[in-house]
Amino acid sequence: MLIVVKLGTSTLTSGTPKISPPFLVEFARQITQLQALGHQVILVSSGAMAAGREKLGYPQLPKGLPAKQMLAAIGQPRLMAIYEQIFGLYGRTVAQVLLTRADLADRRRYLNARNTLTALIEQGTLPIINENDTVATEEIRVGDNDNLSALVANVVEADMLILLTDQQGLFTADPRTTPDAKLVEEVNESEIPQAIWESAGGSGTKLGTGGMVTKLQAADLARRSGTMVVIAQGTEPNILTRLANNERIGTRFMPVISAIESRKRYILSGRLSPGQITVNDGAASALKRGGSLLPIGMTRINGDFDRGDTVRILDESGRELARGISTYSSADLARLRGRHSDEIESLLGYDYGDEVIHHNDLILL
Ligand code: GLU
Repeated sequence: MLIVVKLGTSTLTSGTPKISPPFLVEFARQITQLQALGHQVILVSSGAMAAGREKLGYPQLPKGLPAKQMLAAIGQPRLMAIYEQIFGLYGRTVAQVLLTRADLADRRRYLNARNTLTALIEQGTLPIINENDTVATEEIRVGDNDNLSALVANVVEADMLILLTDQQGLFTADPRTTPDAKLVEEVNESEIPQAIWESAGGSGTKLGTGGMVTKLQAADLARRSGTMVVIAQGTEPNILTRLANNERIGTRFMPVISAIESRKRYILSGRLSPGQITVNDGAASALKRGGSLLPIGMTRINGDFDRGDTVRILDESGRELARGISTYSSADLARLRGRHSDEIESLLGYDYGDEVIHHNDLILL
């Protein structure tokens, strides 16, 4: 399974003002165990601002974004240094990826982010993602890592998103103030019921940004792109492996549609560029068998389009065979037409991969 795990500040600090190395050592052990079981893992971690505050000795700061960005600039490398050291104990390599909403809203940058994350996972490293707080102004920031983790789950088409928090899951009311509040074990309705939104209340701690509301937003978003979502308590023993083993802990949100269905909808509902790629018979039958489109199978490129645009794929008789998201622009493809994939780098000076359209980004009509 491809699993995205989101760790919030209150979990990372075990509810104290400081990052908690003992918690992280145990957490790293579990992540390593997941990887050893054959799962692929991406971590979305908060804690940059908390680490910055800790480093500066908890100064009084003005409210507003610049102070937060300053804290994140100080804290992010510190946070990564801690991760590197702790995952190093288990022989794992970590990689820092900083994103903003703008990186994921634009289709081309979205593809770039996906390629990088895929390459990092294939290399067996652990990508650790945070918002690029130091440059994330109000207009381009996601704002909270719950929603960021859902966007990441969407980018990589994760099977599962685990939102770790200091609560056992989602309750019918705030368990800190309402003693008879009950744990919601599963949400399988296609729309999250209104009563659940209402019970989610605001953020409980001052350190992090998220609360149950942002977790619900994240769950809502991720399950619509085919990802199962679980909200669970970070301190529950062996929480990650138990969830990966399908054990029922915390609150689980069943996916609304499959990942394939979601991708199809994206391709079909997204803007269609004027681009058309005509392919030869060999390529047409390869596509029908579930293959990807390679440069060698292209005979004609029509219309202007960019990397990341949705284009039509036609057979020699002009019939539309498929639609897909092009890895290369029309200008690039004009040079790649009929060539072997291993010539891409020498022809263009760069290489976004062997496929013009990866079979994951393509739907047959
Ligand atoms: N990016 C923020 C940080 O690292 C956290 C955002 C959040 O807690 O949701 O401090």
